[in-house]
Amino acid sequence: MALSWARVGSLVASGILILFAPDASGYCQTSLCQKDKSGIVCSPAQADDCGIPMRWPGGCFGYAIAERASKQLPYELLSKAMNAAATTWGAADCGNGEKPGLAIVDFGPVACDQKEYNLKSGNANIVIVHDDAWPYDGAGNTLALTTVTFDLASGSIFDADLELNGTVALTAGDADVTFDVESIVTHEVGHMLGLAHSEDKDATMYIAYQPGEISLRTLSPDDEEGVCKSYAPADVSACDPTPRRGLAGECDPLPIEEPGCACSTTQPARLRFNGLLSLGLLGCALGRRARRR
Ligand SMILES: [Zn+2]
Repeated sequence: MALSWARVGSLVASGILILFAPDASGYCQTSLCQKDKSGIVCSPAQADDCGIPMRWPGGCFGYAIAERASKQLPYELLSKAMNAAATTWGAADCGNGEKPGLAIVDFGPVACDQKEYNLKSGNANIVIVHDDAWPYDGAGNTLALTTVTFDLASGSIFDADLELNGTVALTAGDADVTFDVESIVTHEVGHMLGLAHSEDKDATMYIAYQPGEISLRTLSPDDEEGVCKSYAPADVSACDPTPRRGLAGECDPLPIEEPGCACSTTQPARLRFNGLLSLGLLGCALGRRARRR
């Protein structure tokens, strides 16, 4: 996927602005801003709001977990955390007893353990843990990265991959919590749904995580407003959660990006650590040419 190091670096730097930003509240949706650029649309509206909010067409998607899981977290614990996160978002209170028009389906383990989007073959909205090294900038303060690939015309989400930084001490359960995997994936599933960071410090979609914290497991009213805005209550029982062109359990040996077909935006969850706060990014890297790896 076309994620540039330079882009990550520039957005980490922009996080400094957030440190001194006035308190504000309000969820934001990732948006298709211009032809090859993502942006945000927030509530209350912000000056730089731009474009069409991204969402899964039909209100559903399915994820799969790389079966090797993690040295720290066996597949069962990672799956349990993802299931809890999916349930949490789906159970948001939209008022009047209604829930979001949203279905998140677990497609189980897959052999592939790479982030990719294939334009000519099947896909998986994959969950991966990088155990040995974090392959991007910010290894010391990045917990996870979600890459969303979307239609450049409509903003419909095509694919979303979630990568966890397994070089930090991930924990599951309520005892001796360091970096709580359920908290982290609940935040990241918000990105998979198309939500951006909120400025509400109580929100699961807030950009910072404090080690030991488990409160991100549950949604704040702001998170609930956001998901209910993106996925208004509706019957989604007819929605097909199968990834585009079918579920691919194996990585595509030659994933190819073509010009003008799709774009990716990445959303890393960062943590506040030793007083340092870094920001997730809203950027878009467009595949301009066929690329092989
Ligand atoms: Zn984030």
